Amino acid sequence: MDFDLFVIGGGSAGVRCARIAAGHGARVGIAEERFWGGTCVNVGCVPKKLLVQAGEYGAWADDAAGFGWTIKKGPHDWTKLIAAKDREIGRLNSIYKRLLDNAGASIFEARATLVDAHTLDVGGKHVTAERIVIATGGHPVSLAIPGAELGIISDDAFYLPRMPQRVAIVGSGYIAVEFAGIFAGLGAHVDLIYRQPLPLRGFDTDLRESLADALGAQGISLHPGCHPTKLEAHGDERVLSYGEGQTLRTDLVFFATGRSPATKGLGLEAAGVTTNKDGAVLVDHSLRTSQHHIYAMGDVTDRLNLTPVATAEGHALADTLFGKNPRAISLRNVPTAVFSTPPIGTCGLSEEQAAEHGPVDVYVSKFTPMRHTLTGRARKTMLKLVVDQASQKVVGAHMLGEDAPEIMQGLAIAIVMGATKADFDRTIGIHPTAAEEFVTLRTRTRVAGVAKAAE
Ligand SMILES: Cc1cc2nc3c(=O)[nH]c(=O)nc-3n(C[C@H](O)[C@H](O)[C@H](O)COP(=O)(O)OP(=O)(O)OC[C@H]3O[C@@H](n4cnc5c(N)ncnc54)[C@H](O)[C@@H]3O)c2cc1C
Repeated sequence: MDFDLFVIGGGSAGVRCARIAAGHGARVGIAEERFWGGTCVNVGCVPKKLLVQAGEYGAWADDAAGFGWTIKKGPHDWTKLIAAKDREIGRLNSIYKRLLDNAGASIFEARATLVDAHTLDVGGKHVTAERIVIATGGHPVSLAIPGAELGIISDDAFYLPRMPQRVAIVGSGYIAVEFAGIFAGLGAHVDLIYRQPLPLRGFDTDLRESLADALGAQGISLHPGCHPTKLEAHGDERVLSYGEGQTLRTDLVFFATGRSPATKGLGLEAAGVTTNKDGAVLVDHSLRTSQHHIYAMGDVTDRLNLTPVATAEGHALADTLFGKNPRAISLRNVPTAVFSTPPIGTCGLSEEQAAEHGPVDVYVSKFTPMRHTLTGRARKTMLKLVVDQASQKVVGAHMLGEDAPEIMQGLAIAIVMGATKADFDRTIGIHPTAAEEFVTLRTRTRVAGVAKAAE
């Protein structure tokens, strides 16, 4: 065999797995067909957060007046922002490649497909491997409606030649609400069109309601319960039809309508690897596919599609196979953020999920953050704890407000360790912060899940 391990895909999962395995002394090959670092570095987390930060400056310039500053806001230069972003992404690309080189992995800048259970076609050349890792990630999909090709998907949003004045975003998942905040922050009029009554399906309802309020306060037009039916071009203008013959005129339509696992044409059948109906590779808790020596990880398995999950899985598998340190990654209590404006941080169960298991004590606090008592900006912070009544363990923490993702990372440690409400209560707060509310929530807002427990 040419390699002990061959990794298909140089994204978050693949690069980490290949690098650590090579560091343990394995003969490792890795193929990447598009961009080192994958989605996160190139068209995901990193450029997204840079654009979110760009959007924030405009509002901060206005806010400064409340503190006595006179800041005259000039126009925003989109081309300059994208060029700066591209420079940073280019730097990260080369770091990822260098890390692999330094670890001693053989790098292939080509598409890899499976020919049989141990053979790969890598850019037209056949190589063999004892073990194979599928880490091909996913790609955005737009809506199956006539004219969808006139719109863009998230990959395109990072390379727009100019900033549109009006944007219609279809969808209400985290990518949709994040880009709504970005474009609104940079001065566009944003329409958000979605099927659900509230954005962010699957998240805690208090979070979803607070987010809808915050998006509205930012001037974003919300269109809940709407089903787009077709998209047409009228010159440079785009006309989106939805619902019962309603139309919306805009400059750009952005379909943030989900992602698909990248398994098409990968040769999975030839290698005996099975997928679910959506094309996601099926794995067991040790990331093994239906073939004993072929593994899959990260977004291509479509379980919890987050970069830290993908990298943790890559690291754990390399340690398990070559580092004499067998371990699996738990997908329980994985904290996550939505970089909406303001952002969300969340960890553990929503109130609705927790209430499925029995009675829960719910503590909610909503307030105007200190900064905005002077700026006058209509901005609220919402934070919430969900506590299992029987064990008094904190099973969910949720926050919408400035710095929520930064705050949630620390809280996640407490939740993973099984902290109780009493542990939160005996922790002294840091004053004056928003985060101190998490340890000073004394009055229960409500009890949920009682009826279920009584059944
Ligand atoms: C707009 C956006 C924002 C996001 N924001 C966040 C965030 O804030 N926080 C967070 O945790 N996650 C975020 N994510 C999700 C995160 O990017 C993914 O979970 C993560 O990148 C998954 O890593 P991966 O290695 O599984 O796949 P990917 O990073 O997608 O890497 C797969 C790689 O495989 C390559 N490839 C595919 N097929 C082949 C083949 N046959 N041969 C060779 N190479 C191949 C691809 O080119 C790609 O580079 C975001 C995603 C998007 C789209």
